[in-house]
Order: sequence, then structure tokens, then C-alpha cells
Amino acid sequence: MSREEIVKQLEFFRDIGITSLSTEEPSPLMAKPASSPETLSLIREDIGDCQRCKLAPTRINIVFGSGNINAELVFVGEAPGSDEDEQGLPFVGRAGELLTKIIDTSIEPGRLTRADVYICNILKCRPPNNRNPEPDEVQACNPFLKRQLAVIRPKVVCCLGKFAAQNLLQSEVTISKLRGRFFDVDGMRVIATFHPAYLLRSPDKKREVWEDMKMIGAELQRLRS
Ligand code: URA
Repeated sequence: MSREEIVKQLEFFRDIGITSLSTEEPSPLMAKPASSPETLSLIREDIGDCQRCKLAPTRINIVFGSGNINAELVFVGEAPGSDEDEQGLPFVGRAGELLTKIIDTSIEPGRLTRADVYICNILKCRPPNNRNPEPDEVQACNPFLKRQLAVIRPKVVCCLGKFAAQNLLQSEVTISKLRGRFFDVDGMRVIATFHPAYLLRSPDKKREVWEDMKMIGAELQRLRS
């Protein structure tokens, strides 16, 4: 801005009654409206072309999450795998296919499908070779998941696998011990179950997952009534 333009701008402020440009008390013209509502789009915008952790250089796409933004039920997985990284969408590989089948057939059959829920992950970028997420990566990504959950305000959150469960429940207990019951976290009912990728390797665990899904269906019904 030239000096002339700055003077004009200040004269304009004076003419409309603005006498202070202090940073402590921002000009009403510059301030975001106090009630600017949080939305998923705003959160995605804030993430931008994220460089907050060391996963940025190796990822193809940020996998923000997808599904019904008014979902009563949110699934939280661990981190994108290679299919998810390529497509920018969560749970689209083999584990995702199984997850879709589980959701469509077991929670409220004939009533609730994958299109009704929201799905995201603890991490939004793929760790190289699908290694476990590291604490600094979780720390960098966690605020965005928290904000997503605060916007969606689901009745129930289902953690898929040990990693999501231990993070959301702030626990070091094994997934076998965490699954099968509800916890209260920030006004949401949180339950954990085995990760669908683990189910592909250990199909004998499907019965427990089925039981967990039935618990979710019953809890949704209870919370609606
Ligand atoms: N595994 C996850 O935990 N999340 C995905 O999105 C895909 C596979």
C-alpha cells in the first residue's frame, strides 16, 4: 500500500467513527464475527496443505474424513493406508470394504448404512509403509479430530482398533479389554472394537465385533428415545 492509500484508509476509518486501531481491540471491520460458526469446511481450510508433522513429505493426499456431517455415529480409525492416501478418502481399501459391510448389516439393519455415518482417522496422513503413528504426529493432528467431533456432535463414537481406542480414551489398556463397553468422553458415548484390518487376519474375532455393533444400535435407540 502506498502512503497515500494508507492515509485514505485511515480517513475512511475516522469518517465511519473508528478511532482506535489497537491490536488488542481489533477494528470491527477487521475482526472475524464473534459468532463465526465452526464448520467442517473451516477445519479443512485450516489444515490447508499441512506441513505440521513429518508425514507431509511422503503423503499423496490429506484424508480429512467423509460421510454424513450430521451423523449420530462416527467411526475413528488409525491412519490412511495406501488406497486412502491415493483417493483422499478414509476406509476405501479392503478393510474399508469390510467396514462398510459391518455397518450396513449389523448396527441397525435396513435403517443405517455407511452413508449415514461419518468416518475419519486419528491421523490424516499415511505413515510410510503403514507404520504405527508416532506421538508427535498424533499431537499435531489431534486438534483437528477434536474440532471435527465438536462440529458433528455425534451421539456415539466407535474407535476402530487399539490405536484409536487408546488415543480417544487416553488409556494404555489393550483393545480386548477396552472393547465391549461404553465410556463417556466430552458428552459422547465412546465404544471401541477391533479394527477391520485385524478382522481380515483374525476372522474369529467377528463375533465380538458383531456384539459391539449391536451395543451401538441399542445405545443409539436409547439415546433417541
Ligand atoms: N485403516 C485405517 O485405520 N484407516 C483408514 O482410513 C484405512 C485403513
